[in-house]
Amino acid sequence: MWKFAPFLAAMLATVPCAAADLTQTEARWLKGVWPVVAFARQAKLPLDVVVQPQATPGAAPLALGFVAGRCKLVLSMRGNAEAQATLDRIEPDLLDAALELMAAHELGHCQRYLDGTWLSLPAGFAAGVPAGLSDDQREAYVNMKSTRREEGYADLVGLAWTQQHHRQQYGRLHRWLIAERSNELMPGAHHDTLAWIQLAQDGDALNRQSIFAAAAVLWNRGLAAAD
Ligand SMILES: [Zn+2]
Repeated sequence: MWKFAPFLAAMLATVPCAAADLTQTEARWLKGVWPVVAFARQAKLPLDVVVQPQATPGAAPLALGFVAGRCKLVLSMRGNAEAQATLDRIEPDLLDAALELMAAHELGHCQRYLDGTWLSLPAGFAAGVPAGLSDDQREAYVNMKSTRREEGYADLVGLAWTQQHHRQQYGRLHRWLIAERSNELMPGAHHDTLAWIQLAQDGDALNRQSIFAAAAVLWNRGLAAAD
């Protein structure tokens, strides 16, 4: 998920989008994310696009759900001021590339899900848990850290996409992503992905043919630092 939001797989209304019914905001988002959707289709990743027809105030405008072996790129934009506000916060000449970065982030979640590695750690890496937690606290802590690692991986996929497709704008988008993740930062919480983003300051660190393989290299390197 791009920003804090309740996990949405359970509330998915899987209505396919009908172009004629889209709002202007939805149409702008869809146009922006479409290169990533086209890439996913070409790569034969099972990705569907869902435009939620009901009001979804407070939802992440763009998120990913997993349903029955398929990934759902979900736009939750009706009755949700954050959808347009997100667009308005991005410098106009960066908007398309930033929307692609966000969509590639979601595709990173999709790939982990398809790989069967969602919320799991590489073999040999043991995550630390602070002493003195109750069982409930321990579970919440482990969940938060697992989600945060997924967000870190997904941010790196977004940056790897940027390096491949918008190299001229990499530096500005990297700074934009740092600012996004620093905004209302709660250190150690779900979207505190700075330990990974900082490893990708130089886009050349993500030069690999596969955006997923490129992300995995830096993600592994950042695991210990982020733990
Ligand atoms: Zn995410």
